[in-house]
Amino acid sequence: MQMRIGGKEVSTSEEHWIPVINPANGREIDRVPEGTIYDVDDAVRAAEAAFDGWGRHSTRERGMVLFRAAALVRNRHRELAGLLTSEQGKPSRDAIDEIRGFANILEFYAGISGTVHGEYIGLGQSGDCLVRHEPLGPCGAIIPWNMPAIIMGWKIAPALLAGNTMVFKPASLTPLTVLSLAAIMEEAGLPPGVLNVVTGTGEGVGEAIVRHTTIRKISFTGDIETGIRVGELARARLKDVHLELGGSDPMIVWKDADVGKAVDGAIRGRFYNAGQTCTAVKRLYVHEAIAEEFIPVLKQRVEALHVGDGSNPTVDMGPLTGKIPLERIEAVVREVRDDKQGKIITGGERLVGTGYDGGFFYKPTLITEPVPGCPLLRDEIFGPVLPVMTFPDLDTAIGQANSTRYGLGASVWSRDISVVKEVFSAVQAGVIWVNRHLTLPPEIPFGGVKASGIGRENGLQAYYSYTRTKALFMNW
Ligand code: NAD
Repeated sequence: MQMRIGGKEVSTSEEHWIPVINPANGREIDRVPEGTIYDVDDAVRAAEAAFDGWGRHSTRERGMVLFRAAALVRNRHRELAGLLTSEQGKPSRDAIDEIRGFANILEFYAGISGTVHGEYIGLGQSGDCLVRHEPLGPCGAIIPWNMPAIIMGWKIAPALLAGNTMVFKPASLTPLTVLSLAAIMEEAGLPPGVLNVVTGTGEGVGEAIVRHTTIRKISFTGDIETGIRVGELARARLKDVHLELGGSDPMIVWKDADVGKAVDGAIRGRFYNAGQTCTAVKRLYVHEAIAEEFIPVLKQRVEALHVGDGSNPTVDMGPLTGKIPLERIEAVVREVRDDKQGKIITGGERLVGTGYDGGFFYKPTLITEPVPGCPLLRDEIFGPVLPVMTFPDLDTAIGQANSTRYGLGASVWSRDISVVKEVFSAVQAGVIWVNRHLTLPPEIPFGGVKASGIGRENGLQAYYSYTRTKALFMNW
């Protein structure tokens, strides 16, 4: 596939290509141009040229384009989900959910398009003031490979509704779904140049977007270390910056929890998308009063997960999205085994043999009794490996939940309102779920505290974050 700049398919100014690999079998399915700083320049020029016209439409008119695009995406959800599975690996039904989720985000923002407006401030004898929320201009968005459609929706929908234009960089592992969705947005009436997609590396295309002086805001989702660099580069150029970074979400199962539901929640929370989700359950804390019942049921359910090519409808968990993500997980578990940092009670190795040839498959893995402070608990583990701990009381569970540098999401499983209230107040995170984990409808503001990020996706807050105020002070 080609890049999309100024409403056209564009090849690279140099003849370098990035292969796109199906992670279920290691075969090349397509290739995209390795864009350059000149391509970024062209994309920014296109975004700048389109800004004036797009910004002059009413918010309702822009919302109608989002509505039409959502309808086209819903009509083609099977084809788009097939593409997503083939480049990213997640099972077909999860890919369908993600594509519909993209449409849902567009619909949410289209739905609020008639309700967002400015303010009037009466100042008595001194006069009257009107406050307008204006778009910022061309904005840059850079995203990872784990949920390309959803994260694209989180970034483009509020930004475009507010009247901004964009230069968008997908991850090199998963550019195809993003390029296809961008083409559909134009088919729905998005004027050329409003949304430009430049493919390429992070160091090349990514940094060129962040450094470009015309880009007014950067919205970045990815790893903490990359986010720190992006933040520094953007701030040094006085750009607004939004960072959605890593997470190590704790799930706390209190002694009164419904064990069946909590086991379901832990399985979905950790093994959805082969564990490659920012808000996955990355540390499981089970009250010691129910641990003897809970852990064997969890183990049995983990061992029953069907791992394989996501295009097979009976598969529960697909491959990791690439060789590097797989090697990272292998290294983490090897260290646990070699340094006796915990007990691997199931999994702990790659899946090889018939059905797995050439693919990046890893067995769903449970590790009990991890050594406090070990990398498995300290760092973000982006794959299907779940450490399970027990705790005697709520203070201990909350202390352990807060013991990392992350603060994205957390969940508590209980019917006791005093436990829920305590967790809600004391656990440091941007979202706390009760008797669920993972779900993020576009109505709910979402983002991290501590090293998990700055700013919020979703909700009205994201819309206003793509605007700045301009006040008119009238003295009659
Ligand atoms: P990454 O930081 O390596 O890459 C993310 C994007 O940044 C890619 O498009 C990459 O090409 C680009 N990039 C890399 N170096 C860059 C640079 N110097 N300048 C500009 N852009 C650059 O992250 P990843 O490994 O692709 O993604 C996994 C991470 O993303 C995990 O930490 C995960 O938790 C996080 N994530 C967070 C959220 C959230 O909403 N908080 C959602 C999904 C994923």
